[in-house]
Amino acid sequence: MLIVKKFGGTSVANKERIFNVANRCIEDYKNGHDVIVVLSAMGKSTDELIAQAKDINPNPSKREMDMLLTIGEQTSVALMAMAMESLGVPAISLNAFQVKMHTTSVYSNARLLKIDEERIRNELDSKKIVIITGFQGVDKLDNYTTLGRGGSDTTAVALAAALHADMCEIFTDVDGVYTADPRKVPTAKKLKEITYDEMLELASLGAGVLHNRSVEMAKKYGVQLVVRSSLNRSEGTIVKEEVSMERMLVSGVACDKNTARIAVIGLQDQPGVAFKLFNHLAKHNINVDVILQSIGRDGTKDISFTVAKDSLQEALEIIERHKTTSLQYDKIDVDDKVAKVSVVGAGMISNAGVAATMFEALYNENINIKMICTSEIRITVIINEADAERAMVSVHDKFRLGEM
Ligand code: ADP
Ligand code: ASP
Ligand code: MG
Repeated sequence: MLIVKKFGGTSVANKERIFNVANRCIEDYKNGHDVIVVLSAMGKSTDELIAQAKDINPNPSKREMDMLLTIGEQTSVALMAMAMESLGVPAISLNAFQVKMHTTSVYSNARLLKIDEERIRNELDSKKIVIITGFQGVDKLDNYTTLGRGGSDTTAVALAAALHADMCEIFTDVDGVYTADPRKVPTAKKLKEITYDEMLELASLGAGVLHNRSVEMAKKYGVQLVVRSSLNRSEGTIVKEEVSMERMLVSGVACDKNTARIAVIGLQDQPGVAFKLFNHLAKHNINVDVILQSIGRDGTKDISFTVAKDSLQEALEIIERHKTTSLQYDKIDVDDKVAKVSVVGAGMISNAGVAATMFEALYNENINIKMICTSEIRITVIINEADAERAMVSVHDKFRLGEM
């Protein structure tokens, strides 16, 4: 079998953990499997590199940021190879340049385009454990890029897809995917299985346990994922197309505090206005989520929407740049103290009343809803950031997710 095993930052945070991971990988190797290991940067080292950069220049270019951040993963793969060598097992570390992981040139949020198999296959054929840097890529001009925070999951899934691996295991610091972040909702329960679609919604809506693009890619290429703990042997959660259990109404609750709300007030009530506004943002790769448009009144309308907090400044600059030309609005209002709380579940499609249940839970806690957005399998509300934890717990309990 060819097995891809990905370990996150906490799983390789120190010497003891590095040896723990090395031993788990060696177990599979000694059982005769080909093993590819994908690693994140150790512990909080990516955050530390970011802090170091901001200390030198509060507004560094994204290219140089990516150049810097690739160091984190490079450190962990080299140390892992050394750990395996010391245990008498042949291993080699490779970075994105050596593997040739081609990505787009969107620094800090690049997309993987193609992975060359040759080098990896050669190393596997010579019976080595191959340890590859997560999170990083190389664009067509040989610049280093990164895939966005948490992107090592996507590297692992992409490798599993490209090399037709038999298994892709994502090892982390919790036992699997839970009905809510177990660190925020103590009653959260581990799920045995979850569908790609539900996992994609949860990941996109703030459940940081998997990078959303990794789920997107797993679904596209039919890579079955197992999310499990690097610290114990418990079974974990399987992410796949269909789940065998009776469909649950709601599978999980997610919260995203990396959210800010922008309202563009007094736009003209004419065709093409929404297109122009969102096209300006799209051209700069700014993702927009919950969108609300007011009804037109006196020839004008307002459009509110959310963006990630780290895109807020750029989004505002872009909109302001077009104030007197293509956008012609009156003013902008910003609220960066908001959070997005969502419930996700494939069972919602055929069940009325899910939204009402969620709103009741928030009402019971006297939490005001600022915006609402729904899809077939999710309901999202924008609320005050200070209410986020309370909202998560009350919504989670209202759907009795801890009791299933
Ligand atoms: P890694 O470094 O292994 O990639 P992450 O910090 O990226 O780990 O992801 C694991 C964390 O995701 C957990 O520690 C947990 O706090 C958080 N998390 C958020 N939502 C969920 C969820 N629904 N199920 C499990 N963990 C979750
Ligand atoms: N080291 C990167 C980060 O902290 C990528 C990852 O952990 O997946 O975001
Ligand atoms: Mg992660």
